[in-house]
Amino acid sequence: MRRVIGHLDVDYFYAQVEELLNPSLRSKPVVVCVFSGRTELSGVVSTSNYIARQCGVKSGMPISKAKKLLEGKDAKFIPLDIEKYSNMSEKVMNTIRQEIGSVEVVSIDEAYFDLTEASGGEFSKSKEVALKLKEKIRSTTGLTTTIGIGPTKTVAKMASDMAKPDGLLVIDDLIAKEFIGKLPVEKLPGVGPKTRKILNDLGISSISQLASTDPTLLYKKIGKKVSIKLFRMANVIDDEPIKTGLSSEQISKIITLKSNTNNEKQIMQEIENSIKAIQEKLKIKDYSFKSLAIIAITDDMKMHTRTKTYPFYINDITLVKNDIERLFAEFCKSSDRLVRRAGLKLFDLGKIRRQESISYYLGASDVS
Ligand SMILES: [Mg+2]
Repeated sequence: MRRVIGHLDVDYFYAQVEELLNPSLRSKPVVVCVFSGRTELSGVVSTSNYIARQCGVKSGMPISKAKKLLEGKDAKFIPLDIEKYSNMSEKVMNTIRQEIGSVEVVSIDEAYFDLTEASGGEFSKSKEVALKLKEKIRSTTGLTTTIGIGPTKTVAKMASDMAKPDGLLVIDDLIAKEFIGKLPVEKLPGVGPKTRKILNDLGISSISQLASTDPTLLYKKIGKKVSIKLFRMANVIDDEPIKTGLSSEQISKIITLKSNTNNEKQIMQEIENSIKAIQEKLKIKDYSFKSLAIIAITDDMKMHTRTKTYPFYINDITLVKNDIERLFAEFCKSSDRLVRRAGLKLFDLGKIRRQESISYYLGASDVS
């Protein structure tokens, strides 16, 4: 059967939640802000609605600049309230779970899901399933979403990026490679300004050019792992599975750092108590975990995660501190932004007999 993958993205999420809670905002520019507290104007824009975007407002922009762009337009500047949005996010994810069966939550407003079964491997049928899901989310939460569908996670995500807002775009497996081939390389998820420049300098500007470039020629410039990954994405042969935990329960903890940083040692120091708190929870619930994710919210308020899954269940998070530090180090190295909030999430939880968990202690420390 042909693989049919969906990617859902809630439209201008934080700002849309604010509109939902206060419908009088709908006709105005709405800017959700992270106020740094120094002065009334200091801080950055997190998300804005489309009316504000039409005036040039962008995520990560200083609030003072957004205020200038929206002068005299009765714009509303609202402080970011992550708790409020998390509750809404949970409702969205649960609706996907109910409708489709399982979901891979990638961020507060984005998820992948496998539509192969629900559509019988037919892309034409997947459209109906997706429309029904969009409608269900709209009726249960009031939120509009955009869904992209494709033969791989990469194509599905690119489709939803293109169809925003309130859209649905299906890219059939038969045309997927040609369809994405025409687009510039920076449209591939994970290709930021740095990688784009390196590729452009090598004469690779479109995805089809990348698809026909021998990846070994790129090893020196962007590393073996990234080269192969991009080559597979460009050729629509990346078959990364949808990662759904058996249990949807998670244990997580996130804190605001004393100062923004890109130093993993500082992050590790500051999350020491979070690690202890998570370990306490694991013990009380008698849980072990198979997967962990680090969470980094950067100073433009974008949430990023890096995940690691083990072949064994682990009942003591302090055993994998090195992995946590390494994930933060990898993230810090790859990001142009500073980390403002940091945290951890454990998932794929289970109550496992001690014997099984303990196998991790016995020489499995080189697990990758
Ligand atoms: Mg979104």
